Amino acid sequence: MPQKIKYPLIEININKIYENTKTLVNICEKQGINITGVIKGVNAQPTIVEQMVKGGCKYISSSRIEQLIDLKNNGLNKANMLIRIPMLTEIEDLVQYVDISLNSEIEIINKIEEECKKQNKEHKVVIMMDLGDLREGFIDEKELIDVCLYIENKLKYVKLYGIGTNLSCYGSIKPTYDNLSKLCDVACKIEDKIHRELDIISGGATTTLPLVLEGRIPKKINNLRVGEAILVGQDLPYYWGHDLDNMYSDTVILKAEIIEIKNKPSQPIGEMYVDAFGNKPSFEDRGTRKRAILGVGKQDFVSHDSLIPLASGIEILGSSSDHLIIDIEDSDKEYKLGDIICFKLFYGNVLYLTACDYINKVFIYE
Ligand SMILES: *Cc1c(COP(=O)(O)O)cnc(C)c1O
Repeated sequence: MPQKIKYPLIEININKIYENTKTLVNICEKQGINITGVIKGVNAQPTIVEQMVKGGCKYISSSRIEQLIDLKNNGLNKANMLIRIPMLTEIEDLVQYVDISLNSEIEIINKIEEECKKQNKEHKVVIMMDLGDLREGFIDEKELIDVCLYIENKLKYVKLYGIGTNLSCYGSIKPTYDNLSKLCDVACKIEDKIHRELDIISGGATTTLPLVLEGRIPKKINNLRVGEAILVGQDLPYYWGHDLDNMYSDTVILKAEIIEIKNKPSQPIGEMYVDAFGNKPSFEDRGTRKRAILGVGKQDFVSHDSLIPLASGIEILGSSSDHLIIDIEDSDKEYKLGDIICFKLFYGNVLYLTACDYINKVFIYE
């Protein structure tokens, strides 16, 4: 007897994630860049992490220290990296479980040194430079250089591993040849003063890949921290116009079941006020149309705007915490109760769906 399938589910294509990793690792390698695989977007699913390792990522990283601890306890033996600058309250775990961390506060770095001494262990740090996106990192170049020299010359257990930057997050600032060259200039100044090369000059995330693909990445950048392009693969073709061979954007598919089909007016009936989340929506009157309700909702995927139906003739109308409402009037298919509707996803959806306990996770290998 085949096992009964529980919906809603996400189908995670292991081979496609492996192919995405391998393709990007190869492209970057040709330009002297290694890849840190970022696993937070899929809730650090071990099967997926394994593909990133097999595909050639040099480091495995997450913003959540719990994910790195779990992987280490389960035998992952790849250098790991904490990519959210650490909290004072997690430094004990940091030193015990993490090899490399991104940092931007001297007080934290001193605390790491103290903890390292206690545990008699070394810890590597990558110092972050803010090139204008206004998330983590030193805005002031001199301040950053001074901190690097302090680590190099005064600290015993904390090792200066390199410098890095983060872009396209808070401030939506694009990585460019010019802003990344600034990072490289600072790296050169530090190397001159410490009389050795830095191990890592980390030039950003998925959004820096277009510069690599267009051959416009400054030569000195030798590392990128990549999550989305490997795990989901939508942003490069959708936002950046790079549709590569051997890259897949259907790595994770959401499948949900139809629980109601009815013809209904397109405008709500009665006095409109606020919806389940306090919003005041508006509706276009398109007459009576055939709609279906699916058993999946905002608690699972958070935003329905970025779900992409795989079948034609389906339009997403809206969602509540546990229902997704679609228009199927223009579909050629005669849908019935129990039918399954499939969606391609963007990063945000995958981030939430993989972390949601109500979603069945199915791995396929084809
Ligand atoms: C999440 C994150 C990344 C990975 O970003 P993607 O867009 O998924 O490639 C890289 N660096 C830092 C610091 C991050 O927080």
